[in-house]
Amino acid sequence: MIVCKFGGTSVADADAIGRLIRLIRARLEDCPIVVVSALAGVTDALLALARVAYRGDPTELGATMDGLVRRHEAACHGLPGTESAMEAITADAATLRQELLAGLGRMLKPAELDAVAGRGELWSSRLIAAAMEGAELPATWIDIRPIMVTDDRFTRATPYVQVVNTRTRECIGPLLEAGRIPVTQGFIGATADGVPTTLGRGGSDFTAALLGAALDAKRVEIWTDVSGLMTADPRVVPSARTLTAASYEEAAELATFGARVLHPATALPLVRAGIPIVVLNASQPDRPGTIIEPEAELERMGDSPVRSISWKPGITVVNVRAPRMLGAFGFLRAMFEVFERHETVVDVLASGEVSVSLTVEDRTRLDAVVRELSELGEVWVEDRRAIVAVVGIGLRNTPGLAARLFQAVQPANVEVISQGASLINMTFVVREEDGPGVVRRLHQEFFGSC
Ligand code: ADP
Ligand code: ASP
Ligand code: MG
Repeated sequence: MIVCKFGGTSVADADAIGRLIRLIRARLEDCPIVVVSALAGVTDALLALARVAYRGDPTELGATMDGLVRRHEAACHGLPGTESAMEAITADAATLRQELLAGLGRMLKPAELDAVAGRGELWSSRLIAAAMEGAELPATWIDIRPIMVTDDRFTRATPYVQVVNTRTRECIGPLLEAGRIPVTQGFIGATADGVPTTLGRGGSDFTAALLGAALDAKRVEIWTDVSGLMTADPRVVPSARTLTAASYEEAAELATFGARVLHPATALPLVRAGIPIVVLNASQPDRPGTIIEPEAELERMGDSPVRSISWKPGITVVNVRAPRMLGAFGFLRAMFEVFERHETVVDVLASGEVSVSLTVEDRTRLDAVVRELSELGEVWVEDRRAIVAVVGIGLRNTPGLAARLFQAVQPANVEVISQGASLINMTFVVREEDGPGVVRRLHQEFFGSC
C-alpha cells in the first residue's frame, strides 16, 4: 500500500479535487490511503475566526463563518455526490458558530483553539471522500482522531506512536484488505479521553508518515504545489531547482530550518523501515519529484557539496554570559532545565567559554525563561532574527566551505554560527530583513543562479 497526502493547494478547489481523483484512480493497484489537509487557507481562516470571536463582534463572526461555508460550496461545485457532505459541513459550521458565540469576547484556551483549527481537515476530508465516491471510487471516510492518540500539549501535540500503530492496523488495515480507499485527515488527533488536538502547523505530512510507518507502506507521497524539494524556497529564489533525491537527514534539517514543503518530523517514523517519501507536484503529476530515502541509496547530486539552503524568520536569540559560573559544572544543564521547564524548544546553540547563544521560535514563555536565566548570569535578547541553514551530506568532507559561505553572505552581519553534530548542516543567524538576500547570494555561490 501507499499513502498519498494532499496539501491545502492540492485540494483548494473543484479542479484540484478532480486532479486528486484522477491521481488516485491511476494508483488503485498500489492500495492508496488518502490523507488530506484543509482547503488552502482554511486553517488560517479558522484561527482568524477565533480572533474575531475574541474581539466580540457577532456580525463579523457570522460573515467570516459564511465565507468559510461558501468556500467549501465552491470547492465541490460540479462534483457529483457531494451534497450530503456539504450539508454535514454546513451543520457543523452552524455548531461551531454557536460555540464561538457562547464564548464571545473571551480568549480561547489552546484546547478550544485545536477544536476550531481541526475543523478544516474534517470538512475537506468529508468533501473529498464524497467526491471520490461520486466518481465511483470505493472511498471510506475515516475519523483519524480515535486512531491518532496524542498527549495533551494542545496546538503541538505529540502522537503516541505505539498506540497509533496498533489502532491504524486495527482500523485501517481491514479496509485496505476489503479493497476500500480510506480517506482521512492530516494534522488532527485526540487525547486518550477523546479531546481534539492538533500536531502543529503543517502537521499533515507527519500524519501521512505515521500511517505509512504503521502499515509498512511502499512509499509515502506528499502532493504539493511545487515539484519537489528544491535547492531553495522558489518564492525566495525563483531559479531554484528541484532535487532528484535527498536523504532523510537532509530533508529533516531543511524542514527544521524553514523548508515548509515538509513538516520537520515527517522522516522520523519512516527511517527504521527505510520507507521512501516522494514529494510531487499535484498540478504537474508527470514530473518525477524528489525521492527522500536512506543515505546509502542516494545518487550524488552534481558537484555542489550543498544540497539546499533554507531560512526561517521570526527567530529570537537568547544570549547568556555567566562570569560567576565560569568553569562551574552544571551550568549548561541548569540553563537547559529552564528551557525544558517552560517547554521552549531551542533550535540552534553556539557556545563560547563564557557565553552561550541559543535561538528560539516560540516566545510564549520567553519572559519567564529570561527571568530564570538571569539567575545564572547576564542575559540579553535579540529579536527579529532569521536562521539560515546550508544543508548537504557533501558538507561532511568539504574543507574550506565555511570561508566560501561567509564570503558569499557579506555584507550581512552573521551571528550564532553552528554546525550540527551530523556535520550535514551549517546554520547561522542574520537580521530578519537580511534573510532573503543572504539566501539568494548563497544560491548564487553554490548553484550559480539566484
Ligand atoms: P502544502 O499545503 O502542500 O503542505 P506547503 O505550503 O506547506 O504546502 O509547502 C509548500 C511550499 O513550501 C512551497 O510552495 C514553497 O514555497 C515552500 N518551500 C520552502 N522551502 C522549500 C524548498 N526547499 N523546496 C520546495 N518548497 C519549499
Ligand atoms: N492545515 C494545517 C495547516 O495549515 C495542516 C497542514 O496543512 O499540514 O497547518
Ligand atoms: Mg504543508
